[in-house]
Amino acid sequence: MDPLGIYIHIPFCQYLCTYCDFYKVAGASKTRKELFLSSLHREIDDAAGQIPDPDRFLDTIFLGGGTPSVLTPGQIGGLMESLSGAFRIDSSLEATIEVNPDLPVDWLAGYRRNGLNRISIGVQTFDNAVLSRVGRRHAAGQSIASFHAAREAGFTNINLDLIAGLPGQTGEGWADDLNEVVSLRPEHISVYLLETDQETALALSVRRGLIRLPEEEEAASMYTSSREILKKAGYAHYEISNFCLPGMESRHNLKYWTDRPFLGFGPGAHGYLHGTRYAPPGDLNRYLAEPFQRLPGRTDLSPLERRQRAEEAAIMGLRLLDGLDLAEIEARYGINLISESRSALAEARDTDLLHWDGKGQVRLSEKGLLLSNEVFQCLISTPDPRSA
Ligand code: SF4
Repeated sequence: MDPLGIYIHIPFCQYLCTYCDFYKVAGASKTRKELFLSSLHREIDDAAGQIPDPDRFLDTIFLGGGTPSVLTPGQIGGLMESLSGAFRIDSSLEATIEVNPDLPVDWLAGYRRNGLNRISIGVQTFDNAVLSRVGRRHAAGQSIASFHAAREAGFTNINLDLIAGLPGQTGEGWADDLNEVVSLRPEHISVYLLETDQETALALSVRRGLIRLPEEEEAASMYTSSREILKKAGYAHYEISNFCLPGMESRHNLKYWTDRPFLGFGPGAHGYLHGTRYAPPGDLNRYLAEPFQRLPGRTDLSPLERRQRAEEAAIMGLRLLDGLDLAEIEARYGINLISESRSALAEARDTDLLHWDGKGQVRLSEKGLLLSNEVFQCLISTPDPRSA
């Protein structure tokens, strides 16, 4: 089996951003955080006990949220100890923590000392007016200070997150954001287009006409200008939303895009093992009452499950700018998506959404990058077997 990745969901936030649809809990007490951590330690030990020794081996850890930086360096260090006690860890471990820029900057050195070697800072934009419009409580200066503090703490692999299409953003302001990011020279940059089809406070205000977002074309042109500016600055665009300096792809996230196994710990963390996805309780109270989950074993997948895995693997792989080989998916799952989706793939190619060699190699075109959900539909034909 490939080495595992581990995603840990820390569900706490100090405040709630209006665009966010992640599962999170605001303003939790110290006691509640401690209760959560003891459940998390138990969950890690229990899961490790369900995995045979040769497979209990990991090479990436990702602490996401919520806001993992609400936890002190000591608490994060305790988590890392739990993981290294329960799993064998590859010497090339990539261990990422997501932080908000308003954390006490001296915590960064503590995270580094306690085994994290990659940091992802939620900058979103350097425009303070836009930040406050979406409920972010940090200022641009804190993002820059956190970046420098992370460098001083010894982080040589830093990601900065940006969001395009926020209320009040303009093309000019967005170019300033990109130029500021480029001047800092992080190893990795994520550029997300604001999603407005979810049930968030921001989406509700937009629907009620209380807040206006940049027009769709303007948001699309922000995305396109990201490609131009970042490419010129030496960043490779390797996944729909991700750019990096040579060799600095997120190894953890590559597992999602290349159909590799990962475990999820915490109330909102999904996992994927032996070709089977499993879902978390999705609620902190339920998680505190019973953090244990039965991990999927090595079982034969039903034809419907194999089809669904094949389609998911193809869609995730298509997110990579290099695309993927559908023949490899067939070899893995026995599902021939090429012949089954032939006419839809041909149509996507003819409308310039997709590059397809007529055999197995497919990748998104420049136009397809902006309309990726449409392209993904070409590969979907099955209902979810869990609802069958
Ligand atoms: S964006 Fe991050 S900090 Fe803001 S509410 Fe969502 S999880 Fe919390």
